[in-house]
Amino acid sequence: MDLNETMEERSFRSETRAWLGEHTPPPLAPELAGSDSDLAYRRIFAQALFDAGYAAVDWPRRYGGLGLGLVHKAIWNEEWARARAPETFQNAIDLLGPTLLACGTPEQCDRYLRPLLTGEETWCQGFSEPDAGSDLAALRTRAELGSDGRWRVSGQKVWTSHARWAEWCFVLARTSSEPNPHRGITFLLVPMDQPGIEVRPLRQMTGDDDRFAEVFFEGAIAEDVVGEIDDGWRVAMTTLGHERFTRTFWLQMNARNELDALREMIGPVRDPVMRQRLAGLESSVAILRWLLLRDLSRLQAGAQLGAEGSLHKALWSDLDQRLHQVATDVRGLAAVTGDADRWQQRMLYTRAETIFAGSSEIQRNIIAERILGLPR
Ligand SMILES: Cc1cc2nc3c(=O)[nH]c(=O)nc-3n(C[C@H](O)[C@H](O)[C@H](O)COP(=O)(O)OP(=O)(O)OC[C@H]3O[C@@H](n4cnc5c(N)ncnc54)[C@H](O)[C@@H]3O)c2cc1C
Repeated sequence: MDLNETMEERSFRSETRAWLGEHTPPPLAPELAGSDSDLAYRRIFAQALFDAGYAAVDWPRRYGGLGLGLVHKAIWNEEWARARAPETFQNAIDLLGPTLLACGTPEQCDRYLRPLLTGEETWCQGFSEPDAGSDLAALRTRAELGSDGRWRVSGQKVWTSHARWAEWCFVLARTSSEPNPHRGITFLLVPMDQPGIEVRPLRQMTGDDDRFAEVFFEGAIAEDVVGEIDDGWRVAMTTLGHERFTRTFWLQMNARNELDALREMIGPVRDPVMRQRLAGLESSVAILRWLLLRDLSRLQAGAQLGAEGSLHKALWSDLDQRLHQVATDVRGLAAVTGDADRWQQRMLYTRAETIFAGSSEIQRNIIAERILGLPR
């Protein structure tokens, strides 16, 4: 296993670092997160990324990518986070985009991919329901085929990020009553601006009520189907597979940045317990990066992604929580009673990280059964 970068990869890293150094905008004020100003801010940066070919470096050129491989995508993700450049529309770019490339028709790719990268069309993910989160196959939202040949969706989704912004939703709905819960589900593309849809904001403990919502469907019309009718579970598994690995290089570098900022805030440390906690965080950041590089190298050698994605997810989300717990402990009472600042917002937000994209308990079940070979 050779983890060194080739000359060409090093040069790609320098190019992207230089581009990001020149084009990264100043950060958005934390209190504007999720607002219309946030949407406009992301759209401007998304367009700049698209024009430079960096919006999705591993996608085919025909759809706005650079046609590069996973190593370049990993390099890009690291440099993007290192530059502290803003995220754009990752729900769509990291989840729906790769799903359309893998399971969509050429016409669907032509229709949806470009506006998804530039943010001209914004998307939300309609998978979770009140009684279907970790057990997603328990979903009950239904779609019925009308006499006009169009699918009409009825049911409720919950924890839908950015539903307020979204012009479209990719929805999992039951289209037949199969005894096997993984069958009879279809992956639908539904426009949000229609009478059969109501978006109700949910307030998070950060105080933010712009980013999260419940979405109610009552006979809402689906515009398109991805993959075969009743085969949406397989399509959705493509979506969730991409959710994990490709993002973790960004997340690892983000943790590196946060740890650097934390050490700068704390200054020289003499307390042995604090030194030990910081050393633990340093080790976790390094271990995560080596694990990612090992698995990238395995992928390059033709292996498939398996349960390793669960290991990455469990590690980074735990690391980020521990890191922000140290920041909170160092700042003492001011961390919880003072004005909401970046550290406080981040500490509260890290609570969500061990829930979304598969909770830590679920990841540990997968690690126990599939990596350690423990009995169920
Ligand atoms: C910030 C954030 C953004 C999100 N964005 C979206 C989005 O845009 N679209 C979307 O569809 N969903 C979204 N989600 C929802 C997310 O996918 C679910 O919250 C997640 O799948 C967990 O489901 P749940 O909340 O229903 O919890 P549950 O599945 O009800 O789990 C409750 C608790 O039980 C534990 N548990 C459940 N099953 C087991 C088991 N078999 N073994 C051991 N423990 C178990 C869980 O770990 C958890 O601690 C988001 C969530 C968050 C926090």
